[in-house]
Amino acid sequence: MSNRPRLLSGITPTGKMHLGHWVGAIENWVNLQNDFDCFYLLANKHAFTTRANQPAEIRASVMDLATDLLACGIDPSKSALFIQSEVPCIDELTFFLSMLLPFNRVMRNPTLAEEIRDKGLGDHYPFGFPLYAVGQCADILAFRPDVVPVGEDQVPHLELCREVTRKFNVTYCGVDSHARDEDHARLGGVFPVIRPRIGRVKRLVGLGAPSAETGQLLKMSKSLNNAIYFDDEPGEIEKKIRGMYTDPKRLRATDPGETDAGKNPLWAMHEAFNSDVAWVESHKAQYAAGQVGDVVIKKKLIEVIETLVSPIRERRRHYAARPGDVLDALKLGTARANVVAEETLSLAKAAMKQDYFGRVVELR
Ligand code: ATP
Ligand code: MG
Repeated sequence: MSNRPRLLSGITPTGKMHLGHWVGAIENWVNLQNDFDCFYLLANKHAFTTRANQPAEIRASVMDLATDLLACGIDPSKSALFIQSEVPCIDELTFFLSMLLPFNRVMRNPTLAEEIRDKGLGDHYPFGFPLYAVGQCADILAFRPDVVPVGEDQVPHLELCREVTRKFNVTYCGVDSHARDEDHARLGGVFPVIRPRIGRVKRLVGLGAPSAETGQLLKMSKSLNNAIYFDDEPGEIEKKIRGMYTDPKRLRATDPGETDAGKNPLWAMHEAFNSDVAWVESHKAQYAAGQVGDVVIKKKLIEVIETLVSPIRERRRHYAARPGDVLDALKLGTARANVVAEETLSLAKAAMKQDYFGRVVELR
């Protein structure tokens, strides 16, 4: 076991990796590998919240995302890339944690409300849908991490996690209810009160038009069919960018008060991916003045995105041809994840006075 600080993050296998994942989370995942003991979770059970009738797709997506992550530079000899459903502690912890959270508190989570709206779930979502928010607290706490790098949409989930941590430590570990968050571990709390680390771009917008309901642009998301993927071929990227929505009211492009959700996506993408800041600023001004049109700006964006994607696409081909290597990486990571999660669960059970027998989890 290393004595580096620990990092935990995750992604749901509901599709492949897109540019929003990269700037919101994965870029950090890759960069932080040398400084932290990293655990990266493929949340396959959470994919069942919206696709319980598509098990083969979920399995394929687990392999796709693992392939994407290896191609992006996640190194299985440094970081544990693992499958959520093969770490039983997470489920066990979910059950215990769910007893500490009022039902109405879970339902007030704005990310759940946004997902219900944007994914058109209406009132047909399963019981397991809100439960996933509690499950995510367990995903995190099973690893007692020092840092959790995520996109901004995850902040409400992390707030729920912070609340349940305080409740657990106060209820079962004798931590004073007025203790400061940073003191919980020192005062005997099993779980640290975690802090999110938000990526370089908080919320990358998708390629589509704003939502008819809210007037806001939707985030780039696997489930909303508005994304550019790391295995898109050059022609596909070109087609997507040429066809992407741009703001007919050009001024929004340069309005500094405009939120991410109100921005012209064309400029949101340039700001996120075009490292030539001088080019972006001068063209933004010309664009706002009507001196340059969408076509020129899109052409440049196609170049910029292709430069980012093409080496990853190449490495992706390498791993995609070797699914056995991808599975080996997942098995190695899952075994490491179980060691840490089992240790956490035994500490939690001892605090809850439910430590009757020990056990060992072993993968075959
Ligand atoms: P789904 O639609 O199935 O929820 P998703 O595209 O939202 O998929 P997740 O697996 O939920 O992807 O998210 C993985 C990580 O990527 C999270 O940390 C999330 O905050 C981040 N992320 C996802 N989409 C974006 C985005 N458009 N901008 C910034 N970060 C993002
Ligand atoms: Mg999501």
